[in-house]
This record gives sequence, structure tokens and C-alpha cells, in this order.
Amino acid sequence: MHHKYLIIGAGPTGMGAAYRLKELGETDFKIIEAHAHVGGLATTFRDEKGFLWDIGGHVQFSHYNYFDELMLKAIKKENWLNHQRESWVWMRNRFIPYPFQNNIKYLPKEDLWKALEGLISNASSSKKEELKNFEDWIFQSFGEGIANIFMKPYNYKVWAYPPSQMNYKWIGERVATVDLKRITENVIFDKEDRSWGPNNTFQFPLEGGTGQIWNNVADLIGKEYFSLNKRLTQLDPIKKRLFFQDGTEATYEYLLSTIPIDKLSSMCTKHIKEDISVTSRLKHSSSHIIGIGLKGRVTEELKTKCWMYFPENNCPFYRVTVFSNYSPNNVPDPEVYWSLMTETSESPEKLVNRDGLIEETIQGLLNTGLIQSRDQIVSKWHYTAEYGYPTPSLERDQVIRSVIPTLEQYDIYSRGRFGAWLYEVSNQDHSLMQGVEWANRIVLKIPEITFNYPSVANANLGRLV
Ligand SMILES: Cc1cc2nc3c(=O)[nH]c(=O)nc-3n(C[C@H](O)[C@H](O)[C@H](O)COP(=O)(O)OP(=O)(O)OC[C@H]3O[C@@H](n4cnc5c(N)ncnc54)[C@H](O)[C@@H]3O)c2cc1C
Repeated sequence: MHHKYLIIGAGPTGMGAAYRLKELGETDFKIIEAHAHVGGLATTFRDEKGFLWDIGGHVQFSHYNYFDELMLKAIKKENWLNHQRESWVWMRNRFIPYPFQNNIKYLPKEDLWKALEGLISNASSSKKEELKNFEDWIFQSFGEGIANIFMKPYNYKVWAYPPSQMNYKWIGERVATVDLKRITENVIFDKEDRSWGPNNTFQFPLEGGTGQIWNNVADLIGKEYFSLNKRLTQLDPIKKRLFFQDGTEATYEYLLSTIPIDKLSSMCTKHIKEDISVTSRLKHSSSHIIGIGLKGRVTEELKTKCWMYFPENNCPFYRVTVFSNYSPNNVPDPEVYWSLMTETSESPEKLVNRDGLIEETIQGLLNTGLIQSRDQIVSKWHYTAEYGYPTPSLERDQVIRSVIPTLEQYDIYSRGRFGAWLYEVSNQDHSLMQGVEWANRIVLKIPEITFNYPSVANANLGRLV
């Protein structure tokens, strides 16, 4: 097989590239995918009992007009459901609206005082230490109280690495920061304060979960451009030759890889292996998604909630999505069933008892009051994404910025959630646009924004495109 463009991986990045190539009149390409289905981490599965599960709560929001327009081509306007984001933190046996720091009035008095004391002492100190890592950023931004009560334990649970091992450059719009005046006003006037962030409202497909979007995008591209069930195992960058598990080979002029860059590096034949072996220093965490199908109707307390964060140790998960609230079609019959989807992280620094995780999750749901009894459960589903979150570790930027140019000397382009390893631009919209912008660069010589300038993309300048 020979194609001008070969794309490895049929997730949002690979499909963004393919869609754009076709739009530009370039049709000599193929998307190669290891699995029998398209969608990558944005796939939806139906379990044996008929419940739908995304790989973790996928929420649609966007920084790009191009992405929005494609979403409407993939799924008609009337088949999108629009939701008001309602996210909460569960701790100290109560729900606290997110963002946490704006709603500390909900904390028990001792915690409230610690939180306020930290904020006040930060504000009154003129000395700002130089920030070395994410933990320093947490303490400098939120003060000791909120750092110890919520930010440190919660972030360890999400990332599966201590914040001291992470950089803080990725933060941008992703973490709500502190407005002391607003926080004090909320405490004194007993105000609830929930409005924040880029994903205040979000949309979700009426049918088929998040995966439906990408199945439909694949149809727009054309099934003949996909080669499924084909796993890349080796790559010769000099001869521009790929080797697959099924014994076949392929050559290309330009290669777009969307698989984890550390895996790609390990597949390269010896010529450039040494130059790119530093990718083994990159850190990532795995994501365990446990879906729990329940009989009965969703409780009054959870009826309007989208997702909840769990910083405490009484449950293994850091986040739970009320997935049946996203679409009535996420359960076999909305009159009879509802569903919860949990996310638990794992890394060498935070091991998980994989065999016992479903049981620990159910116990966690009981401990946190999300379910009342095991008798409610009608379905249990477990999926592990070995590569779930690309960790913005201290060494990340240096590794990525040295390896990607080396690969590009051989016309190999590594993009996407784990291809570029940039968490700050690794959602579906960013990933799709990394693919689109790659095609624009190769065909039209237009520089890429999202990969090169994440903060520019996240400042909504992508809306100009
Ligand atoms: C828990 C979780 C929650 C998320 N929540 C959201 C959210 O709320 N909103 C949002 O927009 N995004 C969310 N995302 C991110 C979203 O899933 C990603 O943006 C997107 O899937 C990344 O696309 P990608 O194409 O870069 O990579 P992937 O989706 O990982 O696709 C890579 C593809 O490469 C294939 N592949 C791997 N190795 C090989 C090989 N050797 N040969 C051939 N093919 C191979 C894989 O099978 C896969 O299909 C979430 C992700 C996770 C894990």
C-alpha cells in the first residue's frame, strides 16, 4: 500500500486531518486504526443490558467555529441536547457548588476559617515566591487552607501524581482562580456562586452518546478511507515504511501519527531511536471508567446535576457523571432506569486494585450517598483507557519540544491528545483542530495555532477561523 498521506488513529485528531484533506481536494490518504471501531477515546459503548457509556463524561464545548460547523454537519441541530452545566464537590458529607473557592460558605466553620485565613494571608503578603511546580501554584493562588482542604487531595486523585511533580503552565482557563472580593461577598451575604468557565453550557447527542458524533464524521469522510483492525507495530523513518501486526506494509510521503508519542518512538527503527527515546520520560495516567446502571428514577438531589468531584478518601473515584441526565437514550428505558459513570485514575505513583475496583466503586457510591442500596444496581461496566490523561509533568515541554522537530525532519507529525501530549489542548475540539491545522500546514503552508500556541487557541481566537 502507498498513499501520499497516512494517518495513524481514527480518533478526533485523525478524522479532523482526513476531513480537511478531503475538503482541500486531497484524496490520496488512508486512516489506519488498530480497533474495529472509530472514535478513539471519544467512543461510546453499549453494555449487555443496553446502557450506553462514554469513556468518562464527555462534554461538548468548543473554541472554534470550524468545529461547531462540523458538529452540525455530523448531527442535526434538533438532535443535540443543550444542558446547563451543574457541577458540584462532595465533601464533609455535603454538596458544595463548583467552583469550590467561590462557595466556601458551605464548609463547616473550622474549614471555612482555615480557607479564609489562607486567602487573607496570601493577599496580605507582598512576597511572592518563584513558582517551581503546580503545588507551588496551588498554595500561591489559593492559600494553605483551600490547598489542604480541597486542591491538593483532589488534584492528586485526578492526576494520580502529586502536584509537586507537575508544571503549572497548562492551567490557563482550566482551573478557576481566586477573586477574594467575590469570595468574601459570597460568605457575608450567603450567596451561592456557580457561574464560571468555558463550559457553562454544553451539548450532548440525543442518540448514541459521544461516539455517535465520530461515527457520523467517519461517514462524512467516507468509509473507504479507513482501514480498521490494523495495528502499527514498526516504523522505518528513512525508508518511510510502516509495518503492521497483520504482516502487511505501507509507504507514505507524509505521516500523521495520533498514537501516544512514547509508543511511536519505541516503534521507530534504530536510525533515530536514540534522539527520540527521551519520550520515555513523559508521564501519563490510566482512566478506569465504571458504569453503574440503576433501576428506579434518579433522586431529587441528582436530578439536575451533571457531574460531581470527590476529593476525599471514602471512594476511589474523583468524578461521577449522572450520565442518564445527558440523554434519556443513555439508558434502555428512562422511565425505569438511570445511570452513574465514575472515573478513577491510576499511575505507578497511585496504584489501583483493578480486580476489586467495581466493588470499591459501589462501596464508594454507598459511602457518598449517591446510591442507597446494592439492590438498585442492574448493570456494571468497566473500561480501562491505559492512556487516559497526558500528565503535564515538569519535564513534558522540554521533551515534546525537542522530539517533535526531530520527527518532522522525516515527515512524521505527531499530534492529538497523546501525540502532542499537551493536556491544555487535548479535548475533542482541540484534537480535531490539531488534525485540521496539520492538513492546512502541509497543503496550504498555513502555520498551526493549536499545537504551537495553546493559550492563543484557548483565548477563543480559534473562533476567527
Ligand atoms: C476520561 C476522559 C474524559 C474526557 N472528557 C472530555 C470532555 O469532557 N470533552 C472533550 O471534548 N474531550 C474529552 N476527553 C478527550 C477526548 O476523548 C480526546 O480529545 C480525543 O479522543 C483525543 O483524540 P485523538 O484523536 O487525539 O486521540 P485518541 O482518541 O486516543 O485516538 C487515537 C487512536 O489511535 C489508535 N491507535 C493507537 N495505537 C495504534 C496503533 N499502534 N495502530 C493503529 N492505531 C492505533 C487508537 O485505537 C485510537 O483510536 C476525555 C478523555 C478522557 C480519557
